[in-house]
Amino acid sequence: MSRIPRQIVIETNNTCNLKCLSCPSVDGSIDKYGKGYMDFNFFKSIIDRVEKEKMNTSITLCLNGEALLHPQYFDMAKYITDKGLPWYVTTNTTIWNEELFQMVTEINSCYQIVLSNNGLFTPNSMAIEKCMPGIQRNKSKKNIESFFKLKESKGNNIQAGIKICRRGQDQEELEHLISYWLEAGADFVTIGRILTDCNNGMRMFPCRHFDDMAMYVRYDGNVVPCSFNLHMTNEHAMDMGKLNETESIIKFYNKHEYQQLRFKHYTGEFPWPCNQCAIAYTGDGMEGEMHFRNLKLSQKTIYFHDDYSNTFYSYHPKKTRVSHLRDWQPDEEIINWVKKSGMDLNFEYKTGGR
Ligand code: SF4
Repeated sequence: MSRIPRQIVIETNNTCNLKCLSCPSVDGSIDKYGKGYMDFNFFKSIIDRVEKEKMNTSITLCLNGEALLHPQYFDMAKYITDKGLPWYVTTNTTIWNEELFQMVTEINSCYQIVLSNNGLFTPNSMAIEKCMPGIQRNKSKKNIESFFKLKESKGNNIQAGIKICRRGQDQEELEHLISYWLEAGADFVTIGRILTDCNNGMRMFPCRHFDDMAMYVRYDGNVVPCSFNLHMTNEHAMDMGKLNETESIIKFYNKHEYQQLRFKHYTGEFPWPCNQCAIAYTGDGMEGEMHFRNLKLSQKTIYFHDDYSNTFYSYHPKKTRVSHLRDWQPDEEIINWVKKSGMDLNFEYKTGGR
């Protein structure tokens, strides 16, 4: 009956050295929340509990901000690696952390690194600097190429990919970019969606983020249902409470607030901001094979996988750590459990911030 999160998403810090278009660090919502760095002892307590509670859960070591700016990022990564837990990270390619990159290409604990970059490194492309103000394109290019070289020299299994968010680039630039990076050694290229229009309520299916996909822990211990909606993440539209250093993570993930949100979604009631959310985790995705129509681009078969927010392109079917497929019909077990528990179904989430 207990839900176990497949991932724990940890906000090591929410500070950043760039001002990317459509990022919460630009619209001020992170400033309003408050910026900070997770305490290392609190971080260790989360990892210790994941291990102790045998959750078979992977760790995502980034949420808002550029994670590699945390002064103890290597220590955090090493702590997870030493425990043998699977983890992954996304970075904006501005920082070369030799110690970290040597470790992740030697030990198969970090199973994936996503290198964010938003345009072609050709003189006539303006996308990189326009999408990621503050970036130095030569440094970014050198960091990406150096990482691919390092990974190749070690023969390591880590999946290294490039991620681009659609921020107004030409479709032709995106096509060239996928072809270029797959030829240059990327295991995959991801095109992500950024949704800013969340004002039209068209919701129909329950969202999986807080169901059993992930638990999102902010740098200060506050827990939120998802990291895909600024009202949820930075304004705490629904407060799941603060995780302390000792309580069971599984118990926390099955507490009243979580169960009630699951119940509401399963029964078709989507409280704000879920009712207006256009990037809820629904659907099982689509996958297949494709070819570029432009004969100047790679003519190899490309596998794609498309889900609620990203499309992945790769020369081999993309490996996923766990299958996300399951029967997503309303979960009678949860509905009956909530009914029997006598839970107050009119319970209101604490709203309006911290
Ligand atoms: S429906 Fe949207 S706002 Fe609600 S939890 Fe899912 S992603 Fe977050």
